[in-house]
Amino acid sequence: MAIDRLSVARWRLDRIPAAAWATGALALAAALFAFATSVPAAVLMVLAGGACYVAAREARRFIITSRSEAAAEPADLAELAPLLEALPDPALLVDGETRMVGSNAAARRQMQFEARGQFLTSVLRHPDVLEAVQAAMRDGETRAVEYETAGQVERHTRCYVAPLHWGAARAAMLVFHDQTARISTERMRADFLANASHELRTPLASLTLLIETLAGPARDNAADRDRFLAMMQVQAGRMRRLIDDLLSLSRIELDEHVPPSDRADLAGVAREVIDVLGPVVAERNVRIELIAPDGPVTVVGERFQLAQVVQNLVDNAAKYTPPGGEVVVEVAQGGDRDDAIARAGRRWEGAGRVVILTPAAAANLSYAYVRVEDSGPGIEQHFLPRLAERFFRVERELGNERGGTGLGLAIVKHIVNRHRGGFLVESRPGRGSAFAVYVESAEED
Ligand code: ADP
Repeated sequence: MAIDRLSVARWRLDRIPAAAWATGALALAAALFAFATSVPAAVLMVLAGGACYVAAREARRFIITSRSEAAAEPADLAELAPLLEALPDPALLVDGETRMVGSNAAARRQMQFEARGQFLTSVLRHPDVLEAVQAAMRDGETRAVEYETAGQVERHTRCYVAPLHWGAARAAMLVFHDQTARISTERMRADFLANASHELRTPLASLTLLIETLAGPARDNAADRDRFLAMMQVQAGRMRRLIDDLLSLSRIELDEHVPPSDRADLAGVAREVIDVLGPVVAERNVRIELIAPDGPVTVVGERFQLAQVVQNLVDNAAKYTPPGGEVVVEVAQGGDRDDAIARAGRRWEGAGRVVILTPAAAANLSYAYVRVEDSGPGIEQHFLPRLAERFFRVERELGNERGGTGLGLAIVKHIVNRHRGGFLVESRPGRGSAFAVYVESAEED
């Protein structure tokens, strides 16, 4: 195709000197005849003028067509590629055969490719997008396609497909907008309203009843009044905890698709949490022991969120351990994913186990873990898979509510998911439970 165009261009080029020769020869003849007789000289002058016109027009056409034919070469379409770098969102440029002729750094990073020249299908398989590219190049209309990508965190993307004409070449530009935050915000808002109203209704109903009793039959009885006020305080505290946990969960979910890039010392985090909870736990005659190296255990993570994880696990362990019992918190480097799982979560023979979360991409990564062991009642195997469900409480299933929110382990799960880590539990009913979390280590092996 390109060779044909080139030979046509050469043929036209060849005709310019010929026309120029002809014009020159005629003009010379005209000049000679002009001395002899004026009529033929005039005729020849007219012919020379015509030839000049033809040569000039031919030369002009050559310049225009050879320019546009050069622009139609695929190599020139790639000249548009640097423009893509100006876009903050991932962007691709494909030719008429959907071969990638350009991409920006954001696209290469997100879709994990480096080379140019491969087909779009090698980096993007979504049929709706591929169909939109074909259709846009066919009818010249811009399109927008929304699609989801499954993974550890579901991603929502809107892809704009704009057809382009560059010389005679057809092409399309694809720009990808991440919609994950918007969609998860919408879903969260709906979930939040449904869950919060459902869970808040119970303490609110108790409060209403207590207020009615205080305003009526218990109005003049000082002992009843004190008792009911204390009960109201408990219900108000429960409402506050619910609201705090729900807001905390919403905040975590909002940026769950953006993994942290900070560094944090997991051992230091555990030490701080134990310092804060220690005195309260000691009052209940429960001991907390920390097993950790003297130096830091550095991980890729956000310190505040990791502290939330450890605090929720230690809080639960202490809450369910009877007086006189012990909670053991262990922090250590765990090796690769399988090693981390074995060291952090597979210690007790005959224990019930469940993996609540496991990192999707773990090749070549090493992990550090925190394991929180208690000597509480343990959890029956059939309840284990439901532990990190929002509002799930074993006690409620068994009919003896203890006032928890059922959100603590859901918070742990979402934080660990944001950290692209793992979360597991093993439990021996009647003897105790162990909850373990592992996240990417930031230390060299
Ligand atoms: P909360 O403790 O506020 O109810 P969580 O999400 O932290 O909520 O825990 C969910 C449920 O899991 C608890 O209600 C309890 O039934 C069970 N659970 C959590 N940790 C332990 C533990 N260490 N020992 C026994 N049961 C536990």
